Amino acid sequence: MSKITQLLAREILDSRGYPTVEVFIALDTGEMVTASAPGGTSTGKHEAIEIRDGDMARMGGRGVKKAVAAINDVIRPMLIGQDPTRQTGADQILFNLDGTPNKSKLGANAILPVSTAVCKAGAACVRMPMYRYLKEKYGLTQNLKVPTPIFNLINGGAHGAGNLDFQEFHVIPTTNKPFNAALQLGVEMFMALEQVLISKNAIHSVGVEGGFAPNLFTNLDALELLMEAMKRTPYAFGQDLFFGLDVAANSIFKNGKYVIRDRQQPFSAKELTDYYKDLNQKYHIFSLEDPFAEDDWGAWKELTAELSDHVVIVGDDLLTTNKERLEKAVKEKSCTAILVKPNQIGTISETVEVVKIAKDANFQVIVSHRSGETNDDFIADFAVGMGAQYTKFGAPIRGERVAKYNRLLQIESELTPIVSPTTPLPAPTQ
Ligand code: PEP
Ligand code: MG
Repeated sequence: MSKITQLLAREILDSRGYPTVEVFIALDTGEMVTASAPGGTSTGKHEAIEIRDGDMARMGGRGVKKAVAAINDVIRPMLIGQDPTRQTGADQILFNLDGTPNKSKLGANAILPVSTAVCKAGAACVRMPMYRYLKEKYGLTQNLKVPTPIFNLINGGAHGAGNLDFQEFHVIPTTNKPFNAALQLGVEMFMALEQVLISKNAIHSVGVEGGFAPNLFTNLDALELLMEAMKRTPYAFGQDLFFGLDVAANSIFKNGKYVIRDRQQPFSAKELTDYYKDLNQKYHIFSLEDPFAEDDWGAWKELTAELSDHVVIVGDDLLTTNKERLEKAVKEKSCTAILVKPNQIGTISETVEVVKIAKDANFQVIVSHRSGETNDDFIADFAVGMGAQYTKFGAPIRGERVAKYNRLLQIESELTPIVSPTTPLPAPTQ
């Protein structure tokens, strides 16, 4: 048995230049690991609380010195001496120390990096790759397979500098492709889209998740651009790829109605449902994330009843990786898939429990990054170890996104049987 001998937190930066928390753990057996907290931009109100200093004289009030102090002063003394392979025990300590329903005392940005670092230390001390450790420990998947990546190629809403209302426009390779081929598709679509934007003199700078952030007339124009980009590649719609959307509808929900630039009058929930149905007729949308606001349960239920035979309905802000909200959604048939973000709930154990409930209910599982990321690639291993069907890690550019994609490439090659060098070469053809 190994023991935690050192646990220290520090303030580092995420991909937005915002401070975040990094945790270092050392074991008596010599292993050392670090883990960091990601941060959301379009956060749901039911997420666990992220504690920021609020000191406007420093880093725009976004400092995380309080969260760092919570780790070094309150959490550290309780975890020194603990066995890192006892994840549930460590998470229970964190849970009890906080004692609030939404981690508002210590902060999810203090709790999650500690919980993740414990998990990494556990894998390190038993000398297992992170993804395999998670599979063995929790048994949520029989097979180890790299999930299908969902690429976010156009950023709007709170994520883009342009004028689009929908937050994310996705390209989704078909699930029969091995990961490396799916990644190639994402990269080639990204490159083709850049050429389309340049040819139209449109803005081709990128948003927070690396997707382009153009100014367009309507949200549907973004889907047209993706179609045009696809025509510049060898890929065929339906055969190689589909499109998807994260509407992130909290940000278009105003006075009980939904406001988007595609129509002058705001949409009622019923009208927006019809709009999504038309959209699906036209573009065969594969998945629709957060089509309605986080508490508009009736509208979610209606849409799921009408469209879920054709479209995967994904709850992000609706579910916030929260067990109670997921159970309600399963019971009421509010959606058919969950976006899993560990920092929405705070500990690895609670996140795993949510994945288990989702799988038992036959929900699709999409493991997701946040818009504010570091180069920590834990989430890639987590997706594989949980047996998720999909990952959502942004566009295939920018260091903090590429870190995750490159990790998935490593995992894919680890999982691919190596042809022994002693295997005889095929006989040369005459
Ligand atoms: C999302 O909404 O799915 C997302 C990843 O964005 P954020 O991290 O800003 O919530
Ligand atoms: Mg979302």
